[in-house]
Amino acid sequence: MNYISTRGAGLGERHTFSDILLGGLAKDGGLYLPAAYPRVSADELGRWRTLSYADLAFEVLSTFADDIPADELRSLTSKTYTAQVYSNVRDEEAATQITPLKTLGVENGAPLSLLELSNGPTLAFKDMAMQLLGNLFEYTLAKHGETLNILGATSGDTGSAAEYAMRGKAGVRVFMLSPHKKMSAFQTAQMFSLQDPNIFNLAVEGNFDNCQDIVKAVSNDHAFKAQHKIGTVNSINWARVVAQVVYYFKGYFAATKSNDERVSFTVPSGNFGNVCAGHIARMMGLPIEKLVVATNENDVLDEFFRTGIYRVRGASETYHTTSPSMDISKASNFERFVFDLLGRDPARVLQLFRDVEEKGGFDLAASGDFARVKEFGFVSGRSSHADRVDAIRDVFQRYDTMIDTHTADGLKVAREHLQPGVPMVVLETAQPIKFGETIREALLREPERPAAFVGLEKLPQRFDIVPADAGVVKAYIAERTS
Ligand SMILES: *Cc1c(COP(=O)(O)O)cnc(C)c1O
Repeated sequence: MNYISTRGAGLGERHTFSDILLGGLAKDGGLYLPAAYPRVSADELGRWRTLSYADLAFEVLSTFADDIPADELRSLTSKTYTAQVYSNVRDEEAATQITPLKTLGVENGAPLSLLELSNGPTLAFKDMAMQLLGNLFEYTLAKHGETLNILGATSGDTGSAAEYAMRGKAGVRVFMLSPHKKMSAFQTAQMFSLQDPNIFNLAVEGNFDNCQDIVKAVSNDHAFKAQHKIGTVNSINWARVVAQVVYYFKGYFAATKSNDERVSFTVPSGNFGNVCAGHIARMMGLPIEKLVVATNENDVLDEFFRTGIYRVRGASETYHTTSPSMDISKASNFERFVFDLLGRDPARVLQLFRDVEEKGGFDLAASGDFARVKEFGFVSGRSSHADRVDAIRDVFQRYDTMIDTHTADGLKVAREHLQPGVPMVVLETAQPIKFGETIREALLREPERPAAFVGLEKLPQRFDIVPADAGVVKAYIAERTS
């Protein structure tokens, strides 16, 4: 399979899956996509229905990563998607399913369920892709005799998912910046309790923006970046997106009895990585009725899908909410969908995303393209703090099920798009323990804590405090990588 950039540079060049695995943006600032999506035949779909998660992951990935020998890819997927790695289940019987489907009930004639994507080591859906990425990185680096130093900034979910994916992996080190004393006790303990010698937690004396600025400053020093083999694992990474395609298939099979049925998915969204994978599954031929994009108060995406206007937000318009992993000012994977929406016209994509940089957005309302959003199955909605508190309370009372704040945003919006007879699957993106404060507000009780996390906050912690100074961070990295 050949990969191309959404902005059209290097159209004549060939890029394999392995070529783009360790990188981020394409040279022209665009995002990589397959030159054409693989189509799944009815026969294949029939055969895939009964596969285990690991075997299904192999089937889906082998179409995108056809440059990795099949036996090697299979050993990577079977090592990644095990009941041991995804062991934080709430129902023991579901342990082997990796992403169990939890049925809630029937509302407005639509069977409503949650697809649990948060049973991995950090209790958030980012583990689904990041765990595979850890194994893919280790495999690829060993093959080429290379090493990689991952540098990132986190205020929570992404950093811990990256650390748990890369811990103990040969050839990889992680340098993760987080704002000192500004994460929750639970999130801090999750990251800082790791004792693996290849994981470095840097507690920066400053806020999350300071951390991000340091990462940018280091990445813009091209000589330093090359000398110290600095890389990232952010949400535009193609392998992360494609790993997420697998659970749309798995969720579809779990919610239906035959491949003649159609299913809708609701996706709590921020950077558009998760729902982009749903779009790709649909382009491959999975019978998806609707892809419902759910946002919180940071409603950049909801605004687009309602009006055709894409308007990125400044810092003063980016809100800190109680579903913080969706607090984004622009959606970094959105360009992938826009490329398909515009009939894969890289010149127009380039122009639109120049407008984003220069004018803060673009307006497709008047163009015929926006009308096509519906053909791609997309609809949207937004949720507020009061909505998510209501949803958490309602689902607990009605179905005896505790959901986290992001999943609550999804559930609230899903209910606005139910269709009689069409199963609605809401993606569960995190477990409630990660956002305990809102659970206590909604339910007046403590969130459920998986057994493996009892006493987490009391474990010894390993981290270094550094000033908000890119020079100091560079010296810290240089000392540990030469
Ligand atoms: C990252 C994250 C999201 C948003 O996913 P995107 O791929 O950025 O749209 C939603 N919920 C949780 C819990 C997350 O960690």
